Amino acid sequence: MTTQEVSENTLIAQEYKNLLRNTYLLLSTEDKKLIRKAFETAVDAHKNQRRKSGEPYILHPIAVAQIVADQIGLGATSIAAALLHDVVEDTALTLDDITLMFGETVAKIVDGLTKISKLSKDKRVSVQAENFKKMLLTMNDDVRVILIKIADRLHNMRTLEAMPEEKQVRIASETLYIYAPLSHRIGMYNIKTQLEDLALKYTEPEVYMDIEQKIKDSKEVGLKYIDNFTKELQSHLTKERIKFKTEGRFKSIFSIRNKMQFKNKKFDEVFDRFAVRIIYNCTPKQEKFLAWKIYSIVTDHYQPNPMRLRDWISSPKSTGYEALHITVVGPGGKWVEVQIRSERMHEIAEKGYAAHFKYKQGKKDEGGMELWLNRLREVLESQDTDAVDFVKEFKLNLYANEIFVFTPNGDLKSLPKGASPIDFAFSIHSEVGEKTRGVRVNGKIVPLNHTLNSGDQVEIITSETAKPNANWLDFVITSKARSSIRSALRIEERKTADEGKELLRRKLRQMKFKFNDRIINAMVSYFKLKTSLDLYYRIGIGSIDNKMLKKFASEENNRFYQFFRRRPSDKPKNSELENSQISSFYDMLVFGKNQENLDYTLSPCCNPIAGDDVFGFVSINDGIKIHKNECPNAISLHSNYGYRIVSAKWVDSSKGFFTGNIRLSGIDRLGLVNEVTHLISNAHNVDISQINFDSENGTFTGKIKLHVKRASTLDVLIKKLEKVSGIDKVVRD
Ligand code: MN
Repeated sequence: MTTQEVSENTLIAQEYKNLLRNTYLLLSTEDKKLIRKAFETAVDAHKNQRRKSGEPYILHPIAVAQIVADQIGLGATSIAAALLHDVVEDTALTLDDITLMFGETVAKIVDGLTKISKLSKDKRVSVQAENFKKMLLTMNDDVRVILIKIADRLHNMRTLEAMPEEKQVRIASETLYIYAPLSHRIGMYNIKTQLEDLALKYTEPEVYMDIEQKIKDSKEVGLKYIDNFTKELQSHLTKERIKFKTEGRFKSIFSIRNKMQFKNKKFDEVFDRFAVRIIYNCTPKQEKFLAWKIYSIVTDHYQPNPMRLRDWISSPKSTGYEALHITVVGPGGKWVEVQIRSERMHEIAEKGYAAHFKYKQGKKDEGGMELWLNRLREVLESQDTDAVDFVKEFKLNLYANEIFVFTPNGDLKSLPKGASPIDFAFSIHSEVGEKTRGVRVNGKIVPLNHTLNSGDQVEIITSETAKPNANWLDFVITSKARSSIRSALRIEERKTADEGKELLRRKLRQMKFKFNDRIINAMVSYFKLKTSLDLYYRIGIGSIDNKMLKKFASEENNRFYQFFRRRPSDKPKNSELENSQISSFYDMLVFGKNQENLDYTLSPCCNPIAGDDVFGFVSINDGIKIHKNECPNAISLHSNYGYRIVSAKWVDSSKGFFTGNIRLSGIDRLGLVNEVTHLISNAHNVDISQINFDSENGTFTGKIKLHVKRASTLDVLIKKLEKVSGIDKVVRD
């Protein structure tokens, strides 16, 4: 053996010892044997290989295994699989060898990892997205595959220096695109932050170095501040005999850069926030009680910002994250975020899924993670999912805040903030979503585009004949709902288009035209459509009717049609016709205590007219139907289906009975809320009945409930609000 070989062997032995340093005591003899065997097999298999940096290859699997053991907290099976993760891909050993030596489980994990590493290495987003999808599908077999893959990527990022520049950028961007979001979703915040910072170093080296330097420069001041603050805190907490430790926290380079870029802020504005973590020691029984006790001690001494209380203890994030976050005014008037966590919560926050699993084992685990994985699988397995869309929406869902709502049985469901009842329905099952006819929130019928809030109890009313509607896409926000609706619509659209095509063939024959490409193209452009499919579809649903076809025919015959080309006017809507028939005095029907405007139809059995005493009945197939109180069916409806009755009454819309909801969002600034409320209260004939503003990370969202004399007042108001600086979106609910 050469001296180099000797020193390398010493290094390998040393690294192996390090690998087990923290976990040694937790492992059984059996476990240690398994790991030892995996180590020896890997050493032998990789013995002639070196990494790009020149060091022995085996150091890489050892490092990955160490991340798996220490940072993710997985057990012996995963440590062994991590040691063997590149063996099948890069050496003479086969999967069968691994199965024989280590059994099915280890072999399956190694197989999953081998498959992932064979995925195409392409820079194109579409290929990467496709890879991502395939990768998530391997979770079908064993989630540990993904966890080890992330550890593998973390070590590769740490040693990226040795790679050629072109590869550095590809691997770093893939890390930002796929691995960081995935780590986030699995709850491994710690690893996610490391991945992001390491990647930024290669994707935007100047930016990285600039921020790194600035952090160094301001860290001293920051540390001093945090130090003082925690000292004060400590004295308050120790008085109450709470056992705890504190951690000062700084933002990651990547998150600072994101804030600077997307919120258009300067470094100082972004960095000027401190965070302190209190990690307390307790028995499981005291856990919750102590969190709130610490909360009250902290807020006794420092003024909290009530808008910034986040209680992830009562309803943990679906990643399993639990903690109490408050923002208080610290010494010198600076905002300080205080995170309160028990040691158990802390371990889950740092290690994510694996730790979560460890604590839940044995108990009935309704953990968000399992639900999430199941949901993910469903989405991935539906064939219509476009990979790029999927990743985009996956990421959107990832960073959106969550709300928690209840099913009628009291089961908890987590949904992204802003979710609608349709999102909820699809989260239960795509079949429930597709058959949704109506919804009741907290016992009241609400429109389908209603925004759900945490704590709502949601009951979906389904019917066999109900179908997804294209306008649902305007307000659903989960990828599951979106992709299910799209694929249902596509099927429906094709059917209608086929019928429309046949219809068009007959009509053209009647009008003495040939059915050919030229005439179809002329029609597509005449009706300002994009494709022939659009044309057939519109004919199928009747939005291009006989009159319009005849007009086209005569203009086509005249050959002057180019000069007269204009958009055909839409048919008057049914509701407009109905309104004109209704008495002009009591002209509007409102429902429930809150006098809300809902869609309805008038029941033919008693033909109610405006001004009659009426009630609404939620029918299975046709939404809300209006019956007269004296309708012959009324008694039977009331006695058999009391729960489906909604109170209804005719009102004079000019007398201020109209209730409208406005949602607005934009960039937060001082005085914005004032300006908005001023604008509304100065407007004529408008009353604010409820107003809610929520601001976070420099953006705000607001919900305002108003009483107005007529609907058009609301439109005028919206126009005005849109002009307020900072507001970028105003919509009617
Ligand atoms: Mn590897």
